[in-house]
Amino acid sequence: MPETETDPSALSSALETLAAAPRLLVALDFDGTLAPFADDPAQVGALPGSWAAVLTLQRARDTEVVLVSGRPLEGLARVSHAPEGMALVGSHGVEWRVDGHDEAALSDDERARVDRVGTALDEVGDRFPGVVVEHKPAGHGLHTRRVSAEVAAEANAAASRAAHDADPDVLERGGKDIVEFAVRHVTKGDAIDRLRELRGADAVFFAGDDVTDEDAFRVLRDGDVGVKVGEGDTLAAHRVADPAALTDVLKQLARARFAR
Ligand SMILES: [Mg+2]
Repeated sequence: MPETETDPSALSSALETLAAAPRLLVALDFDGTLAPFADDPAQVGALPGSWAAVLTLQRARDTEVVLVSGRPLEGLARVSHAPEGMALVGSHGVEWRVDGHDEAALSDDERARVDRVGTALDEVGDRFPGVVVEHKPAGHGLHTRRVSAEVAAEANAAASRAAHDADPDVLERGGKDIVEFAVRHVTKGDAIDRLRELRGADAVFFAGDDVTDEDAFRVLRDGDVGVKVGEGDTLAAHRVADPAALTDVLKQLARARFAR
């Protein structure tokens, strides 16, 4: 694993270089990155300073902002208040809204698998008060934010068994207080690769806070800038402490991009 740089001056100079790219793609995770966590996922919002910088970047010449989230597309559009025209990628890369077109995701067979897994997880959720099953278009999340670590571990194990019984090919991935069960092998890294190509971007900025964001950091290249938000192992070259610290990073990038 490469060294992760926590020295702000290294990040600052990487941003100045990045801002000179002819075509720049700014890809951002939402929860825990632009928006601090809240107990009710419907009540979160981007930090005002970060969001102002995002809108500034979106208006800058040859610059595109895209939100890349594990949330379903509709929910991402709602909580982010993204303006029309801002590209959105939901469900970890399964759902896309680009150039005003929604690309839905699944075949009939995949949809049937999602339903089977959802039914199995609901039965697990009923057995563990405080554990919440969130149904998404391409899979489901088992949220354990409101229960003890012991109960979470027990619920996760039960959910894993139930989901695999319902669909032996189900994909399982862990995040912060959530385990997700999906039927499509798509990651945020695939989304970044595709967006880079689609927009002919010369350089990419990506920031994220969670385990699933590592798939995106993994596909970054020389000249790109990846910023991990918060603690935990990461492939990102840079790290900031929390969403509030990311605000300064986005402001600097927006300023430098406009000044070029
Ligand atoms: Mg996140």
